Amino acid sequence: MRPSGESFDALIIGAGPAGSSAAAILAEHGRRVLVLEREKFPRYHIGESLIPFTYHPLERLGLIPRMKASAFQKKYSVLFVQPNGQASQPFYFFNRYQRDTVAQTWQVMRAEFDQMLLDNARAKGATVIEETAVKELLREDDRVVGVRAQLASGELATFRAPVTLDCTGKEAFTAVRQGWRVKDPFLNKVAVWTYYKGSRREMGIDEGQTTVAFIPNKGWFWHIPLHDDLVSIGVVAEGKYLSRDGVRDAKTMFDREIRENAWVADHLAMGAQTGPYFVTSEFSFHARYCYGPGLLLVGDAYCFLDPVFSSGLMLALKSGVMAGDAVHAALSTNDWAPARFAEYGRSMRVGIENMRKLVYAFYNPAFSFKQVIEKYPDAAGEITDCLSGDVDKDFSQLWARVREFVPLPEDLPLGAPLESAALAP
Ligand SMILES: Cc1cc2nc3c(=O)[nH]c(=O)nc-3n(C[C@H](O)[C@H](O)[C@H](O)COP(=O)(O)OP(=O)(O)OC[C@H]3O[C@@H](n4cnc5c(N)ncnc54)[C@H](O)[C@@H]3O)c2cc1C
Repeated sequence: MRPSGESFDALIIGAGPAGSSAAAILAEHGRRVLVLEREKFPRYHIGESLIPFTYHPLERLGLIPRMKASAFQKKYSVLFVQPNGQASQPFYFFNRYQRDTVAQTWQVMRAEFDQMLLDNARAKGATVIEETAVKELLREDDRVVGVRAQLASGELATFRAPVTLDCTGKEAFTAVRQGWRVKDPFLNKVAVWTYYKGSRREMGIDEGQTTVAFIPNKGWFWHIPLHDDLVSIGVVAEGKYLSRDGVRDAKTMFDREIRENAWVADHLAMGAQTGPYFVTSEFSFHARYCYGPGLLLVGDAYCFLDPVFSSGLMLALKSGVMAGDAVHAALSTNDWAPARFAEYGRSMRVGIENMRKLVYAFYNPAFSFKQVIEKYPDAAGEITDCLSGDVDKDFSQLWARVREFVPLPEDLPLGAPLESAALAP
């Protein structure tokens, strides 16, 4: 066990994809980095479908060979299915991207994927303490100088560093405490999910495709085939729709929705449901700032939109890599001015706002991608790029075209570094 009071170059709270990727980058730069994780890995987590542009952060982390050698289900395509069971043509990523790089991605069991990311950070030199929950930020002169954490033994220990990275996922440990958490005005869905073993799945290169299957009221199922013949299957919709007629129990809610999509009913008719039913709500939010003196927000702790286009892991890994580089640069000059983190915040927000526009359009009952593409056939490529996670581009022409059909939200004025030199308590 590390001695209490020990100092590091950077502290990381949470060993999910954001925390492990930031830790790996910092360790690779030769920095002394400590990761504190509340759980004992491997641990369960939802969020299993990668999108094509996750390739680049995985490549930077040196993990592509391990991904290729893994048992993770390969994913080449996405399919959309109407409630009556009518399916679109599968959309294959290799029709737009290179077949042997970006165009093939994966469906991952998070217990195994997150363990691989954490092992990678350890192998590069990061120190990791599991079963240790951060309870409090240490502050001096209005900046964060470390954390107080509860070790597995129950003892409290303090750790110090010039910067702490909040990678605590949707719990957003510091955003909540700083009052920086902002709900998205429109995205307030409920998700109910479980797993099936031995259910119907496609053959060949379609085996690992993500299916988005619609139910009434702009609700939808995800169908994500994993390895070991497991399928992750979940339904996302407005809470009042899922709980209509007073239904509160997750299994009853889930089973009722299966009947709302013929494709889903058919695929789950064989095989058996396994494990618990999970429910989560209020998972969409933004952080008012990405950085304040001694504190940087990364991954879901910075922002999470909605599961629909599976952008969470791509954004978590990308922000982890970018945060690692930005912290390394600040350590190199011992310059912690907010401007140091402006590009990190700007770049993350550009991607988030592009993805957010697509998510808003998706949930608008008057919208369909087909309509836009029928009028502007060349919009198909840009829609594909955004859906695949190539989100840093200028999509202004696409948004102008989509706005001819449905309104889209303006960018939220959020996510830049806090300009003040002092962090409010
Ligand atoms: C219903 C649903 C479906 C989703 N589906 C997808 C999908 O298909 N594809 C996709 O890309 N994304 C999906 N996501 C999003 C995805 O789960 C997240 O974007 C991703 O896990 C974010 O990674 P992270 O590292 O930021 O946080 P997390 O993976 O949540 O990791 C945070 C870690 O911090 C630890 N922690 C928390 N508090 C403390 C503390 N105080 N002290 C120490 N440790 C702490 C936690 O134990 C955890 O291990 C989905 C999300 C939801 C809600």
